[in-house]
Amino acid sequence: LRDEVGRMERLSLVGQMAASITHEIRNPMAVIRGFVQLIQERSPKSQHEYFRIVMEELDRANMIISDFLSLAQNRELTMELSSLHDIIEELIPLLNADANLRGQTIKVSFCNDLPLIMLNNREIKQLLLNIARNGMEAMGDKGVLRVSTSFNKDKVELRIADEGVGIPAEKMKHLFEPFFTTKTQGTGLGLPLCISIAERHNGRIDVESREGEGTTFIVTFYFAKSAADIKSA
Ligand code: ADP
Ligand code: MG
Repeated sequence: LRDEVGRMERLSLVGQMAASITHEIRNPMAVIRGFVQLIQERSPKSQHEYFRIVMEELDRANMIISDFLSLAQNRELTMELSSLHDIIEELIPLLNADANLRGQTIKVSFCNDLPLIMLNNREIKQLLLNIARNGMEAMGDKGVLRVSTSFNKDKVELRIADEGVGIPAEKMKHLFEPFFTTKTQGTGLGLPLCISIAERHNGRIDVESREGEGTTFIVTFYFAKSAADIKSA
């Protein structure tokens, strides 16, 4: 137990440092972005491509900082007995908007009588969004992303299945490593964040993939058998 307390303290120290460092980096970056925009307005059209690249890279660095902050903060979670279906439903408009832009479709299928489970609403949304966005990014237009739920006696499963390019075995090994990305605009922090969220929910993430056919992410949450288990978990 003593070890565990020490670990929590270290984590929160890292979290605090991450928060202040990201703040200190973001401020000058916002200033740089503002001035780049100003200079762009006064410069010849032929240079606009360079400015676009500078802005894109600034935005990318900003994204890495945001993802890293969520990962490092590892805050104390407030868990509530929640309906996973409600959480998914709250995200559907956002997912649909994203899919529409890409000419893709989201299909949701809910099982009946899904039990409530202990969840942190904000984190589960972040997890679902990250996995769903990856799915959409792996598909071309007309692709269908299927989100579904199921349960049996001790667990609830959330499946996010895409019809994308799939993940070759040599990449599968690195999937959850921080900064592993195959995208020019990727941060490689989405899945590490998902894993840390799943772990904090006492859950797990499995991946099934076939190259050229698609990938399914399966997020599993286990029930606590009694209130006592929730306290000691
Ligand atoms: P990012 O999306 O910023 O690249 P992630 O941690 O979310 O970082 O994902 C890491 C990598 O895993 C991606 O760059 C991609 O190569 C691979 N990946 C994740 N999800 C999928 C998916 N549904 N289909 C194909 N590849 C995927
Ligand atoms: Mg991602």
